[in-house]
Amino acid sequence: MKIGIIGGGIGGTAAAHAVLSKGHDVTIFEQAPAFGEVGAGVQMTPNAVKAIKGLGLYERFLESGFCPKAIVGRNWQTARENFRIDLGAEFQTHYDAPYIHIHRADLLDLFANELPPECCRFGVKCTGVELTETGARALFEDGSTFEADLIVGADGVRSAVRGSLFGTGDLRWTGHQCYRALVPTGGVVDYVNPDSTFWMGPNAHVVTYYVKGGEMVNIVAVTEASEWVDESWSTRASHDDMLADFAGWHPDLAELFSKVDEVYNWGLFDRDPMESWTKGAVTLLGDACHPMLPFLSQGAAMAIEDGYILGEALALYPDDLAGALAAYEAERRPRTSKVQLEARERGRTYHLPTEEEMAARDAEYARRAKEDPRTTGINTDWVYDYDPRGFAGREKRQMMTVK
Ligand SMILES: Cc1cc2nc3c(=O)[nH]c(=O)nc-3n(C[C@H](O)[C@H](O)[C@H](O)COP(=O)(O)OP(=O)(O)OC[C@H]3O[C@@H](n4cnc5c(N)ncnc54)[C@H](O)[C@@H]3O)c2cc1C
Repeated sequence: MKIGIIGGGIGGTAAAHAVLSKGHDVTIFEQAPAFGEVGAGVQMTPNAVKAIKGLGLYERFLESGFCPKAIVGRNWQTARENFRIDLGAEFQTHYDAPYIHIHRADLLDLFANELPPECCRFGVKCTGVELTETGARALFEDGSTFEADLIVGADGVRSAVRGSLFGTGDLRWTGHQCYRALVPTGGVVDYVNPDSTFWMGPNAHVVTYYVKGGEMVNIVAVTEASEWVDESWSTRASHDDMLADFAGWHPDLAELFSKVDEVYNWGLFDRDPMESWTKGAVTLLGDACHPMLPFLSQGAAMAIEDGYILGEALALYPDDLAGALAAYEAERRPRTSKVQLEARERGRTYHLPTEEEMAARDAEYARRAKEDPRTTGINTDWVYDYDPRGFAGREKRQMMTVK
């Protein structure tokens, strides 16, 4: 099949890798002059790592990743532990994959480096798509067009593909903004340990974790903002504002924040889950169809899972595009919708405003941790348990039952 993918972010490149490996003719159209990701980290939970295994990229992925020891929740002032999930051997065996932190540029390279240069077109901005009798046509700002059997919109939260098929509607300012920064560790530092650490305070939380093999600490510090903040990886923020917003937080965080050189901020937007992602020979993937708050660390994970499943679905239904896209959507839409809504709920529970509410939440975390130390209060088992590699087998069994 001739396939056009709009957007060369993590989702678009993962999908390109997946469909190329099944022998399709793929072209990616990216508006930027080259593939690029910002200087920031990304947490890859076991479900995403299983998709990366399915794409055959696991060994290379591990080379640039960092494996934390635990996910730990801490009180914003006292650093008291609210929950702890051990990420060691038992966790990795249970999920058949580790939990890995990686620099976003390294993750993008993992997928993009495998793509033949002739299938990547840069500096082309898509303005919309049209359905044709035999497939679909992508339209670009420079007046050029591209016809294909299938067009995939992987063009992010403000997707032009989505806009032209389903309308631009309902992008929701969530009232959250986050500061993002990277601090070189210069070796081992005693004020930030190699855990994925969630510091929870009133109306705010901070996540710290190591990337670049432990050379850098990635900081995501989320607050609530009364005014709209732009959604852009390149908006510089004031270091003083960051320090002021987190005044009174634990001395380890104050020490880490004092070492920040460049800080960026990002307004957080999401949408309600969609009722359909596909029209004719056009479908959507990643943030284009399910933008979500980052509080479950799942946006890029879902985009990678989408890309992998799209490749599998097209292979399972080689002469039936409608059947393939229906199977893709049936597998992906319920899961990503649930994750979108759960991420929204996290925004509430991580930001409880009063000491009483925080204490009640932490007591509930402790109670649930006794029931199941692996998933603890934050209850992520259902997210991590998913194995995209099981899709083809499940689908084949269903096809046999229908026959
Ligand atoms: C603060 C923060 C922390 C996060 N942490 C995590 C985490 O720990 N784990 C995780 O899994 N996820 C995380 N995410 C989410 C993750 O970053 C996104 O969900 C993911 O990048 C989505 O990938 P995508 O390919 O769908 O979209 P994008 O990354 O937005 O890529 C879209 C691409 O399309 C291009 N494009 C856009 N419009 C056009 C057009 N009209 N024509 C041509 N090209 C176009 C863009 O230039 C871009 O390259 C986080 C997000 C934020 C904001």
